[in-house]
Amino acid sequence: MSFSDMPVDVGPVYEGERIRGNQMYVELGGPKIDKKFELVRVNPKVEDGKVTIHGPDLKDMEQGSRHPIGIFVEVAGKELEEDLEAVFERRIHEFCNFVNGIMHLNQRYTNWMRVSIQAFEKGLNSLQQLGTILIRLFKAELPIIEKAQVTFYTDAKEIEEPHAMAMNVYNARDERARGLHDEDVDMYYGCVLCQSFAPTHACCITPDRTSLCGSINWFDARAAAKVDPKGPLFEVPPGECLNEEAGEFAGVNEMIKKRSLGEIERIYLYSGMEFPHTSCGCFEAIDFYIPEINGHGIIDRNHEGTAINGLPFSAMANQTGGGKQMAGFNGISIQYIGSPKYQQYDGGIETIVWMGKGLKDRVADLIPADLVDKIATEEDVQDINGLQAWLEENKHPIIETDGYKAAIGGEEEEEEEYEGEGAMVPMGTQSFMIPGAGGAGGFKVILKNCKIHAESVIIKKLDTKPRRKK
Ligand code: SF4
Repeated sequence: MSFSDMPVDVGPVYEGERIRGNQMYVELGGPKIDKKFELVRVNPKVEDGKVTIHGPDLKDMEQGSRHPIGIFVEVAGKELEEDLEAVFERRIHEFCNFVNGIMHLNQRYTNWMRVSIQAFEKGLNSLQQLGTILIRLFKAELPIIEKAQVTFYTDAKEIEEPHAMAMNVYNARDERARGLHDEDVDMYYGCVLCQSFAPTHACCITPDRTSLCGSINWFDARAAAKVDPKGPLFEVPPGECLNEEAGEFAGVNEMIKKRSLGEIERIYLYSGMEFPHTSCGCFEAIDFYIPEINGHGIIDRNHEGTAINGLPFSAMANQTGGGKQMAGFNGISIQYIGSPKYQQYDGGIETIVWMGKGLKDRVADLIPADLVDKIATEEDVQDINGLQAWLEENKHPIIETDGYKAAIGGEEEEEEEYEGEGAMVPMGTQSFMIPGAGGAGGFKVILKNCKIHAESVIIKKLDTKPRRKK
């Protein structure tokens, strides 16, 4: 496969290239654009190599402008099946990032691209070129694809119909996955597609916990692992269940240890607070801990402005991503919010006290009907102080919990004992224990790549008597 006819280089070495606002020629999709999507579908009638553009091409766009983007890839091949579409679709992100001078972020209906001024000046001035690159990469990297064609939509009117069609396809995929649960299957799947950005990250995809990018559900992962068992998606036999409530499995631990090169040893699939699933950077939403309430909030990628904790999505994403195991900040898919296993080890869906309005409207049908109106949004309260009063007024179930009462200072919470080894202090937690010089016991705290802001630090003499087990 050659790209010598292209004005810029193409290859995995350019993955991770960042194009800042002042370096971009144009922006396609992204948070400031209403309609954008990327979709792959199997279609036996594909015209191999064909690229079509509906709307202005790159060369017709003004420098510094923003436009809708729809990328519709249709593929054909004797062995192709519909279950593979989502997995192929996820490769659009990777293949676009192979192009020197193109930055691609996110997936599905949140895709966001930038073309650099430098690449444009070198001659990368048409989506025809990008379409041809995508077709060549799809066929070379996934030989099961025999033919491919690409259609781009960059016009606000023309994108409407294909955008609606794409949303229907995503919904149908998610709906199908909702009917299956972790206990119904004897195989889970892993994915390491994001290791080029987050080397210690590997997704574990189960029926109840779809991939955190939201693009690959259990059915998709199964199909991909079947056709290419040595590829980036692979089988993960769950093995012995070590903790049912937390979703800890010997086979999943083994997988993450191997795939993170020993960096991560344990994962609780159903917890954002203890041994949480790692997060790359592609998560659709973030489940974040609110220590003042002992509850959780969820902010999604489309949320404008700040969350109830005063942080925008981008700031929390920096804390959450990169393949870290960050207690209190957990990258999740939107589909997972509707799972009966949703962070069940932390208290489940009833610990959610705040959500961005757009996200709440979107998942309202997935959460218990009697809880929906008790979850605050930015339209109800603007800060943590107001949140407490709002939750009490609306009788959110969290107000009956000991954790809530202790957090708001009403009652002393019974001291919990943490496992001596490996217990994780959630980010945002306001107490932080450090053993005195030469003191025995306590925790070994390793801080890597960590930014800490504290308004005050209180150092107390530790009671050395052993803490009681849970
Ligand atoms: S977020 Fe997970 S499932 Fe999605 S592409 Fe990345 S590694 Fe794969």
